[in-house]
Amino acid sequence: VADYNLSAELRRYCLALEMLRHGARPITVRHWTGFTYARTRQIVRIYNKNRTPAEPRCAPGPPPMGLKKLLKDTQLRVELTAVAGLCRVLKVLPDRGQPVPRSQLRTPEMGEGLCHTYDVYRRLVPNAQLTFEQLVVLVVSLATDERWALERCMSCESHLLIDPLSLEPRLCAQCQNRTGSVSADPELIEIPETPATHVGAEIQQSLF
Ligand SMILES: [Zn+2]
Repeated sequence: VADYNLSAELRRYCLALEMLRHGARPITVRHWTGFTYARTRQIVRIYNKNRTPAEPRCAPGPPPMGLKKLLKDTQLRVELTAVAGLCRVLKVLPDRGQPVPRSQLRTPEMGEGLCHTYDVYRRLVPNAQLTFEQLVVLVVSLATDERWALERCMSCESHLLIDPLSLEPRLCAQCQNRTGSVSADPELIEIPETPATHVGAEIQQSLF
């Protein structure tokens, strides 16, 4: 039992350092490792003292705002959508299903998965704007919050972050630009001609 506790403790400690290397705030480290406030402060002190110049300095402060606000930034929206798709591919986000309570979501496995996903993402997108904290907001929102879902564009199948209850057409920004008129009237986009329309037209023609 003692050995098991030691390895679990080491795992949390490594996760804390890994998250700090990715630019996590102390409060995020505390949430994901379950360490006490004092223990987290101690680890942050050790990290700041020993970090290399390339590793970010850990500064206290509030984590970023909610996903809705982050998605208002056009560039960030593109990146958040891309990294959400990556989370699916890497199985950090489950395919679909019931929202998970926050307390159950914050496991060492999930924390390590977030660090790994962020590493992969940064390698794929070297000039990325997305911060690790923003990735955490995204994954927590998608996994716990029924208001957000990752769906597919109905035209090109690329990933799309949407409010599942919204009536907006499931079109990505590129397909919206291609069809052009989406901002004018979303209801008119890509609605195929229905037989009823032809019938109506024939009836109208026969009347004249
Ligand atoms: Zn599309």
